[in-house]
Amino acid sequence: MTDTPQYSPGFATLAVHAGAQPDPTTKARATPIYQTTSFVFDDVDHAASLFGLKAFGNIYTRIGNPTNAVLEERVAALEGGTAALAVASGHAAQLLTFQTLLSPGDEFIAARKLYGGSINQFNHAFKSFGWNVVWADSDDLASFERAVSPRTKAIFIESIANPGGIVTDIAAIAKIAKRAGVPLIVDNTLATPYLIRPFEHGADIVIHSATKFLGGHGNSIGGVIVDGGSFDWLREGRYPFLSQPRPEYEGIVIGETFGNFAFAIAARVLGLRDLGPALSPFNAFLILTGIETLPLRIQRHCDNALAVAQFLAEHPKVSWVSYPGLPGDRYYNLARQYAPKGAGGVFTFGLKGGYEAGVALVSGVKLFSHLANIGDTRSLIIHPASTTHRQLADEQKTLAGAGPDVVRLSVGIEDAADIIADLEQALKSA
Ligand code: PLP
Repeated sequence: MTDTPQYSPGFATLAVHAGAQPDPTTKARATPIYQTTSFVFDDVDHAASLFGLKAFGNIYTRIGNPTNAVLEERVAALEGGTAALAVASGHAAQLLTFQTLLSPGDEFIAARKLYGGSINQFNHAFKSFGWNVVWADSDDLASFERAVSPRTKAIFIESIANPGGIVTDIAAIAKIAKRAGVPLIVDNTLATPYLIRPFEHGADIVIHSATKFLGGHGNSIGGVIVDGGSFDWLREGRYPFLSQPRPEYEGIVIGETFGNFAFAIAARVLGLRDLGPALSPFNAFLILTGIETLPLRIQRHCDNALAVAQFLAEHPKVSWVSYPGLPGDRYYNLARQYAPKGAGGVFTFGLKGGYEAGVALVSGVKLFSHLANIGDTRSLIIHPASTTHRQLADEQKTLAGAGPDVVRLSVGIEDAADIIADLEQALKSA
């Protein structure tokens, strides 16, 4: 007898359907919003089995909700992971991921070029928990190797690093993580699985700020943690949340009981349960609706961004453009390797007029919105040195790619000609 190969739907089909069924009771086709705090138990035994992790089911929306479950299944399917956990924000996804892995006094290595808020979270909030970040440089792979110590518990990178234009060599860093025996965590917010699927390059955990391109319409803050199912949490017992009996769950060892989705379970039943950053089911619904058009939107973001980058590269007031879709860009080859469909919708460029010109440009745009978000259908602009990266020291700003002359664009899905015309008129005063 021959095995029939399992049919696997394509990405666009998964974006519309993964995780969703018509509602069994009402037959509603769109995913219903289960706007409830809690779920009724069948009887005392049913309640006991849910609380003891002996059965799957809904207890309380802080640790699970059927609307959020569809979002979790869909993002896990799109990323090619085994399971996912939806939470209140991208920062909450990072908090719960590290809380599941680290004990006070532990270290993790992070690429220096990251979203400014993550740099702050790692340098300040996490240090106050005794979790110590060690910075490395993704352009100097040996710096990751050098940063490994016996206390290292994880490596963290962004696939395409915010403020855009930087494509990370995920497979090379995954090899370093494997040699160090620690999981590689990839923030895939800017790429989305439409452009890059980090598990295919050796990542162990993928996280998202769903606030950006996954939701895609600038209307909901949310985050997702995806378990790649590939890491052996029991080896060497370095991750006690997963490898030691849990007193609050009758001695269950999560890494043994839940196999290749143990990380997602631990982040839910320990992290989300105890720290509490739940995603509202209403926001889960909005993010799910956004994901249905993910492949269409991201391709359009990429095509528009390339057209805008080409326009800026020719403009006399622009000193440089950092878009890996442009031939000659330092990340062009990495972009071709990791993101052949496009280099994303977010990138930076420099103004010859420096800080003042950056301030003048963001004041002069009309179609672009001047705000601190990315990944909206609308085109967005920010001058990081005066806003998102303001709290960093000058040297850290430059290291994070946010020097005084830098402007960041998140190119929307409007007509490219209108986006370019708006920049053209605003550059006159920059
Ligand atoms: N990761 C990246 C790459 C981001 O750009 C952001 C936000 O800008 C975050 C994480 C944090 O996400 P959130 O704002 O949803 O907490």
